[in-house]
Amino acid sequence: AEQVPDDFDAARERHTKLAAEIDRHRQLYHRDDAPQISDAEYDALMRELLAIEEAHPVLATQDSPSQQVGGDVSELFASVRHAERLYSLDNAFSPEELTAWVERVTAEVPGEAYLCELKIDGLAVNLTYENGVLVRGATRGDGTTGEDITPNVRTIASIPEKLKGTKKYPVPEFVEIRGEVFMSTESFEKLNADRLAENERITAANEERKAEGKRLQKLLPLYANPRNAAAGSLRQKDPTITASRALSMTVYGFGARRGFEPTHQSQGYAALKAWGLPTSSYFKVLDTVEGVTEYIEHYGEHRHDIEHEIDGVVIKIDDIAVQRRLGSTTRAPRWAIAYKYPPEEVTTTLRDIKVSV
Ligand code: NAD
Repeated sequence: AEQVPDDFDAARERHTKLAAEIDRHRQLYHRDDAPQISDAEYDALMRELLAIEEAHPVLATQDSPSQQVGGDVSELFASVRHAERLYSLDNAFSPEELTAWVERVTAEVPGEAYLCELKIDGLAVNLTYENGVLVRGATRGDGTTGEDITPNVRTIASIPEKLKGTKKYPVPEFVEIRGEVFMSTESFEKLNADRLAENERITAANEERKAEGKRLQKLLPLYANPRNAAAGSLRQKDPTITASRALSMTVYGFGARRGFEPTHQSQGYAALKAWGLPTSSYFKVLDTVEGVTEYIEHYGEHRHDIEHEIDGVVIKIDDIAVQRRLGSTTRAPRWAIAYKYPPEEVTTTLRDIKVSV
């Protein structure tokens, strides 16, 4: 359990400090693609903040990081308002925390089926289709306002320009599709290996330049992990750079819609799939908590057999009417939870190689 000062003034002082620290890392990670601490370290700061707010609820003010989604939008892009807000997810870090969520939900809506899927470690993107035509791609931003990255999104091969309507699933007049843009582990390793090779070439060339008294060429920075590589590749002012990077997308949700009324999340996925959108083949609808636990354990053991990095499993109530009933807080839906796997030892040796720029 987290250490929470009993004394209110001490708690408030610690809260103020933590909030400032978290806000700084939130912007570095989401807005600048330049995190300075690991996700586990960030999550620990956030858990301490949440524990203080639980003990002293008056500290959970609107401007607390516990009430925010993502980060500010970067000035590199035009900002766009989403038709419907994008959220973050609440986390469970242990079977006990998962049970607590299940109990909260079942107290209100008993006997619901759970849709389990992988939590892809990339960045959230909102695609807008009007009459089946892709009109906009935007980052999540702060949930309300995102960055317009339409030209970048159009370079991703798995994102269709046009949806294919079928008899069963006609193309809707308007729909926002939510999903994760990611870089596969293989492409990430290749990108960094290419950069290392290029850096060797630059270093050799710099030897000659030095001898000739010329200005030295800068080395290319390496990406820390696939998530960072995906975000850095997608959020480029020049979409030809994005086009040169191997990015993919998996869709897992829908926002505002007209002419599309799925009754269940899983049924919605069937429509998305029929339209030609890249749905996941890993999701499962399960009726029991035991089933959910097995799913979590299975992918905990097999997380490296997946082509992309995952940092957990997302569990959603499948029935959309029930999702509506449960609703959301300012930060996250009450009808879903992310079960996060424990942090791993750093696996790539590339990550440890310091590059001077
Ligand atoms: P989150 O990553 O915990 O969960 C929400 C996000 O999960 C969604 O927005 C979506 O992008 C993603 N997601 C992946 N698969 C999904 C699926 N199947 N269904 C629904 N959503 C799915 O929350 P967040 O708000 O994006 O970011 C917070 C997290 O980011 C932190 O817990 C931490 O891990 C990391 N972070 C790290 C730093 C740092 O400095 N290292 C700073 C800020 C945030």
